[in-house]
Amino acid sequence: MSMQSTLNRALFDQVMVPNYNPAAVIPVRGQGSRVWDQEGREFIDFAGGIAVNCLGHCHPALVGALKDQGEKLWHLSNVMTNEPALQLAKTLTDSTFAERVYFANSGAEANEAALKLARRWALENGGEQKDQIIAFTKAFHGRTFFTVTVGGQPAYSDGFGPKPQGVDHIDFNDLAALEAVISDRTCAVMMEPIQGEGGIIPATQEFMEGVRALCDKHNALLIFDEVQTGVGRTGNLYAYQHYGVAPDILTTAKALGGGFPIAAMLTTAKIAESLKVGTHGSTYGGNPLACAVANAVLGVVNTPDVLEGVTVKHRKFLDGLNAINDKYQVFSEVRGQGLLIGAVLNDDFAGRARDFLVASADEGLMCLVAGANVVRFTPSLVISDEEIELGLARFEKAVAKVKLG
Ligand SMILES: *Cc1c(COP(=O)(O)O)cnc(C)c1O
Repeated sequence: MSMQSTLNRALFDQVMVPNYNPAAVIPVRGQGSRVWDQEGREFIDFAGGIAVNCLGHCHPALVGALKDQGEKLWHLSNVMTNEPALQLAKTLTDSTFAERVYFANSGAEANEAALKLARRWALENGGEQKDQIIAFTKAFHGRTFFTVTVGGQPAYSDGFGPKPQGVDHIDFNDLAALEAVISDRTCAVMMEPIQGEGGIIPATQEFMEGVRALCDKHNALLIFDEVQTGVGRTGNLYAYQHYGVAPDILTTAKALGGGFPIAAMLTTAKIAESLKVGTHGSTYGGNPLACAVANAVLGVVNTPDVLEGVTVKHRKFLDGLNAINDKYQVFSEVRGQGLLIGAVLNDDFAGRARDFLVASADEGLMCLVAGANVVRFTPSLVISDEEIELGLARFEKAVAKVKLG
């Protein structure tokens, strides 16, 4: 596309609902951890489509799976099952605590299914009074009305009329607060092992173990939203495996399709019994095309090579970011696990995460923010050392620009 293209940012405002405010640049092509825009400008991609493109852009295994399945069978509906879905469910149950899988198309949908399952399970196993859902401030679980209500940012759920009832929020990593509100009336506790959108805030080991124990004590389900932390992002296939604390229900999306929309809710055989025939469903959920791509994703990601590589690349990122900080003093902390990394701005730069994102884009680097105070990096799990170095060099230039004003 040339500069004169009529498909430009101005057209967005004329034809799109204004719920997004995208950047001026329009990428048209990607390869590995590089992306090019309409003018042929190159970007290093440390954003990965918000923790989605876990194998970068156009990974040959994913392109191959998409082409192959694309010439066989795209879609059936859930009136019939299909081979890619059966294979994917088998792999997910073999690789996790889970024994049963429900497929959806997005993180919010997987979480919606998890919440509906929990409510139905509680109705059958505790009665109508057992309807309380406990969640955490700053949590993010998606944008359907139920998930946005369970999420911990009222700004996302206010202004749409009456909300689903029975949802209580407490502070993350505050076990005493949980102990004070949980009871036999509690249906489920929902949490991210590492809060992503909330600012890359890991649950402490003590908190994870304490939440599990309190859920067990009150016969409440523990739901881990691993939409952002899952599929190798933290160096384990799922983050719960690092903590050694298993949930009753787990949701996974984002990286599961490596860029193709697919999500899943995982649970045990016993709990799954509550989603009887007809209780829930999705037209596209578990469609052969999406499942074929996800099978290819797991085939690459769920290997010691890639998972151990994530831990090695984590150190490379941390060393690089800490070196930049030694020079420019902009961060109070660099935190996170694997390739889910947050650089927390210090008091001098409080509230200015977006400035770093904009300056990075000007230098040819795509990164993200997580709230107003955290610059977030969620690159491809197989990003090369050379791409990490080049991206960090560009980030250093961006930091220098912001610092010098
Ligand atoms: C992105 C995200 C979601 C929502 O996923 P969508 O695919 O946008 O619906 C839910 N939970 C967490 C933790 C996420 O990071």
